[in-house]
Amino acid sequence: MSDIIQLLPDHVANQIAAGEVVQRPASVVKELLENAIDADASEIKLILKEAGKTLVQVIDNGKGMSATDARLSFERHATSKIKSAEDLFQLNTKGFRGEALASIAAIAHVELKTKQENDELGTSILIEGSTVKSQDVTVTPKGTSVSVKNLFFNIPARRNFLKSNTVELRHVTDEFHRVSLAHPNIGFSMYHNGSEMFSLQASNYRQRVVNIFGTKTNEKLVPVEEVTEVLTVSGFVGKPEFSKKTKSEQFFFVNNRFVKSPYLNHAINAAYDGLLKDGYHPSYFLNLTVNPKTIDINIHPTKTEIKFDDEHTLYAILRSSVKHSLGQFNIAPVLDFNSDANLDTPYNYKDKASQTPTIEVNSTFNPFAGEQRTPSYSDSHNRPIYSKTPPANWEGLYVGLESKSNASQRDFSELIFETEAKTSSIFKSDAVTQRKTTYQLRQKYVVSTIKSGMLIIDQNRAHQRILYENLLEQLTSKEATTQQLLFPLQLSFSNSDLEIVKQLKSDLEYAGFVFSEVDNEQLTITGIPVGVPESEVSIVLEQLISDVENDVPDQNFSASDLLAKSMAKSLAIKTGQTLNEEEQEHIVNSLFACKEPSVSPTNKTTFITLSVEDIEKKFM
Ligand code: ADP
Ligand code: MG
Repeated sequence: MSDIIQLLPDHVANQIAAGEVVQRPASVVKELLENAIDADASEIKLILKEAGKTLVQVIDNGKGMSATDARLSFERHATSKIKSAEDLFQLNTKGFRGEALASIAAIAHVELKTKQENDELGTSILIEGSTVKSQDVTVTPKGTSVSVKNLFFNIPARRNFLKSNTVELRHVTDEFHRVSLAHPNIGFSMYHNGSEMFSLQASNYRQRVVNIFGTKTNEKLVPVEEVTEVLTVSGFVGKPEFSKKTKSEQFFFVNNRFVKSPYLNHAINAAYDGLLKDGYHPSYFLNLTVNPKTIDINIHPTKTEIKFDDEHTLYAILRSSVKHSLGQFNIAPVLDFNSDANLDTPYNYKDKASQTPTIEVNSTFNPFAGEQRTPSYSDSHNRPIYSKTPPANWEGLYVGLESKSNASQRDFSELIFETEAKTSSIFKSDAVTQRKTTYQLRQKYVVSTIKSGMLIIDQNRAHQRILYENLLEQLTSKEATTQQLLFPLQLSFSNSDLEIVKQLKSDLEYAGFVFSEVDNEQLTITGIPVGVPESEVSIVLEQLISDVENDVPDQNFSASDLLAKSMAKSLAIKTGQTLNEEEQEHIVNSLFACKEPSVSPTNKTTFITLSVEDIEKKFM
């Protein structure tokens, strides 16, 4: 038998390595930005075309490379950053594997231009799929420019796997945020398809956070500073009242490197215990400095996971320092006998005259009133929007559905309603002939009797389905009706959030929104869809942004589908909301007028049926 094992040719090995290092344009962005930082640049410019699919270019004013190094930098395991295994334990640079440039050059068209400070001329190299096409002497400023064009040109499967430009740009922006937050002392700018998206001057950390996330962020930041033997914590956490529905403002940096750590995230959440509403997440921008010897970042090539020697201690320090900061700024109730009274009084409250506290007494409360357990004033607690009276434009939410309700009823012929005649006119109110056939259970389910037994509907999921189909129809027919606002609505968003709004702008307009300004952290709305209460607009948009950020849509991503789902989610009747009889019937009738009544837009069961036989069995 002859020998069969062969060493893989370099370009094949590089392609395989590239699979690990480069998943999408954002991975290229990360590697190139980090190289520029390692080269001690003070200004870094990122230029993108088509979310990086056709071009990612990073230009820095760092130390540059000699002609020989420039050529060597594309070899695998070629690095200037470590020399021996020991160096791995005292890393001060971002890179160390010497893999990035080799990997990128294996799967794209790369052009490198570089010059060192004292050299007259620089070097330019062109590589396509690991093959050096040319190397020339060139005139170029000090520093390095790397252009990566046509990513995955030679791996069509990978190229097809890339998501829409909206999604890829989101990933790129995330990377840009992470790197620029970790290095406020470096100036960064970012351009996409010719327009400037960020221009961040070298600044202090607070300014950097504010420049990225919007002017409004400034007032919500609470500084955190803690120096201990094992760990230094510095940075900011967000005041609890500014917590967000998304986790988009949660950043940990360990020794200036962005990391993800569910464990440390838990420590922060623990510090906020009792201060946040359900489903809201604190913002944090925290830098941890530890001895490099006590961490291991070599777990994953993309290097966002990290292992600490003594996680428990870090957890405790982190939690208590965040708690302390929240307390110092009088955000959490604390008893701290050592603190300086003036320090604890935020802003100018100390100059204000104090007032006698007032006490409210429920004069109608009668402790002997037997059954009535809840005093009347408790009614206002924990009752979500719409709870007392249905919104004035309640019916607006159903526009267009009435006419369909009969037609599609037959698809659900097994669900014959007891009072069939009634379903033909959902608004009929000649109460004399009507019998109550629906009621609400636990402010969560609508129960209705049907011929074969009973029907139990999840009110929130069902309403999501109803709104979703209705919205989707409006979006596709582009026939939504707008209600003009008397006073334009002004909302503040960070520029990256606005970018999402911009990308969905035409779909939002089909849904009935009218915008007069989408720029500079400012969104001005002059018209909103009929059926969306003005007070809900910011919730709808926040939810939408959060949905785009979080559930990264898949390939057959459709903006209108996402928008319809998201709006349905924000506008649907919530669990805990009391529905009157008419509303309950609306839900039942409109649900079964839907094309797919049995599941919510996110594929959750909307209703179940309980047959008379099932019920009878239970009595046996
Ligand atoms: P690593 O960063 O892990 O060392 P890379 O493949 O990213 O590996 O880069 C290889 C080498 O090329 C680096 O070690 C560095 O010496 C050089 N290099 C890459 N980018 C730059 C840059 N922007 N400026 C100066 N030198 C660079
Ligand atoms: Mg590198």
